Amino acid sequence: MITITEVLALDIRFPTSKDLDGSDAVNTDPDYSAAYVILKTNREGLEGHGLTFTTGRGNEICVTAIRSLSYLVKGRTLESITSNYSAFWASLTRGDSQLRWLGPEKGVIHLAAAALVNATWDLYAKSENKPLWKLLYDLTPEQVLSCLDFTYLTDEISPEEALAILIKAQEGKEKRLAYLEENGFPAYTTSAGWLGYSDEKLRRLCREAVAEGWKYLKMKVGSDPSNDQHRAAIIREETGPDMKLMMDANQKWEVDEAIRCMKALSRFDPWWIEEPTSPDDIAGHKKIKDAIFPIGVATGEHVHNRVMFKQFLAGGAMDFCQVDVCRLAGINETLMVMILAAKHGIPVCPHAGGVGLCEYVQHLSMFDFMGISGQIENRILEYVDHLHEHFIDPVVIRQGAYRLPARPGCSIEMKEESLREYEFSGQ
Ligand SMILES: [Mg+2]
Repeated sequence: MITITEVLALDIRFPTSKDLDGSDAVNTDPDYSAAYVILKTNREGLEGHGLTFTTGRGNEICVTAIRSLSYLVKGRTLESITSNYSAFWASLTRGDSQLRWLGPEKGVIHLAAAALVNATWDLYAKSENKPLWKLLYDLTPEQVLSCLDFTYLTDEISPEEALAILIKAQEGKEKRLAYLEENGFPAYTTSAGWLGYSDEKLRRLCREAVAEGWKYLKMKVGSDPSNDQHRAAIIREETGPDMKLMMDANQKWEVDEAIRCMKALSRFDPWWIEEPTSPDDIAGHKKIKDAIFPIGVATGEHVHNRVMFKQFLAGGAMDFCQVDVCRLAGINETLMVMILAAKHGIPVCPHAGGVGLCEYVQHLSMFDFMGISGQIENRILEYVDHLHEHFIDPVVIRQGAYRLPARPGCSIEMKEESLREYEFSGQ
């Protein structure tokens, strides 16, 4: 029997703001950081690692919240968690009525729950000696269903409907696995288009992206409108008309401003506009979506729980669903949203980048294709070329596609020396 004997929470920060990596219209100087969990067990050499992502200052608040929640995890057997995963998930997100007050199911306390939930999945996958995608692939539809929490969703989707979606996806899943083994999962790059880069750097990175075989590229917008147009023109000059170009405003605009700016940028043929306005403004997203069609509206990296996604999806307010496995309370809630999106026929293109998010979501997008939606068309996975060197099992990208990870776990374990070197000392 595997028992969790200790829960460690570490404050890990990388000084990415020095080179303006990750800079956009709102996040002007992020230091990509992780509130990092290690679950120690009674089994020699077996640990579960997990993280939630922040952009620097405040990471210590997440770490403190993890410590506050950790009593719900310490002392548990792995079997007691995985045999009723939805109950465990509910206990972490709602089980302590005093900690619940800090959310509920949003903000720092939800981010902290994500790190803990994700660490249990890493432990589960390692204990089964499988990468996460394979663990999920091998679960029966009933077992996947038992991981899901339908609280506040039952007017939109019943467990029976979710089960039917999972059962339907069983058909042909071996063929889809063979497809992924052959081709990988299609990705897009955000590495070229950060706002803080010079024209020369932008040009060079676009040229490199074309040479490396990328078919999709995302640029940041939401700066001065003439600067957005200037940068879009450079990107189109370098990539030609066939590259799918996505734009990301990182919540910068008012609703009407978003419509105005996107109409002006439409001559560069954008495929989607991401986070055009406040991530909480469901009606605003719908208004923008209707006004700028056929440009799609994408959002999700700041949509904080499944209930918000329910409203976005049921209200027809998003064309692309960008779940974030560390913003939602981890893998269980992400799977729930993927099933909701499948019901609505909306492609899930998870938010990644940051630190460790690419490592996580590759497993989930691959499982979405194999075991939930059964679809790959219009599904692309974000890729940012930062900080992968700190992981024991970093993502592998070839010709613009993620390759299937092979090592047991969630690919999220950082090297010991990186944990040591980048643990924040409070300076
Ligand atoms: Mg974004």
